[in-house]
Formats: sequence, structure tokens, C-alpha cells
Amino acid sequence: MKNDIFVTVRQILDSYLEVNNHRKTPERYAVLKAVYSMKGHFSLKELSHQLEENNFLVSRATLYNTMKLFQELRLVICHRLQGITKYEACYNKDSHCHQICTICGKVVEIEAPNILQALEDTKLKRFRKDGFVLYVYGVCSTCQAKITRKKTLVKRKY
Ligand SMILES: [Zn+2]
Ligand SMILES: [Zn+2]
Repeated sequence: MKNDIFVTVRQILDSYLEVNNHRKTPERYAVLKAVYSMKGHFSLKELSHQLEENNFLVSRATLYNTMKLFQELRLVICHRLQGITKYEACYNKDSHCHQICTICGKVVEIEAPNILQALEDTKLKRFRKDGFVLYVYGVCSTCQAKITRKKTLVKRKY
């Protein structure tokens, strides 16, 4: 399944580069492969680690520009979570919901079929809907437990 996706996204990049007369540099394909082998949300730094592991060194500028191109091609989405930029491979999954802990920053993808349906049913004027990303902010159970523990400690002191 994952391999099929890679074949498709490769073709998207291929045809874009051909149509626009851009060179098919090995870097672009190496970055694409790394992006689609990452799990979930990742930073540029984590991506560059992955590339290093694949024995591929790409400069920061090339990496940044390549990711920008991938965003235009809708192969990657960029999230700004709690002041940190994270990326995500998004082919076939451009509509989805996240829950984000505002204390530790943990991001989890959640199922929200009602929201998906509601947006599906929403008619937008003079606009072709392509997808959406939703963020639900809150506190995860681990952080909540820490907060509760701290409160009890404070109470005991007095
Ligand atoms: Zn948390
Ligand atoms: Zn996501």
C-alpha cells in the first residue's frame, strides 16, 4: 500500500518537473522518499536525520525549497504547532483532525466522521474545496495527571 502511494507521488513530481522544464535532480526524489517514509508529523531536522540515514546529504536551503515545492504540489502539509513547524506527508489524507496538548505539544490524529461530513455538506461559493485540517487544543491525560499531582502536593503543604 505504502509503495503504491510512493509510485503515485513520484509521478506527480515527475509530471510537474517535466511540464515546467525543471531538472529531475536526485535530491528532490530523495527528499520525497524520506518524507513518505516518515511516520506522522515531523520537523525539518528530523527529516534531515532520515536523509542522513539514507546516506543522502541535502543542504538546508535545498531541503527548505524542496519542501516548499511539495507543499505547492499538495504532497506535504505544513503545520505550525505551538510555534514549531511540523510537516506531514498528505497524499490521500488532506482532510483530517488533530488533538494537540498545549502543555507537552503531543499531537494525535483523531477520527471525527461527523465533522468530515459537515464540511463535505458545506457549500462554498466560487471555491473548489480541496481539503481541511482541524486542530483541537487541550491537555493530554499525562499532563493532566501531573497537574493534579502538583495540586495535591501544594494542598498537603498547608
Ligand atoms: Zn501533554
Ligand atoms: Zn496530521
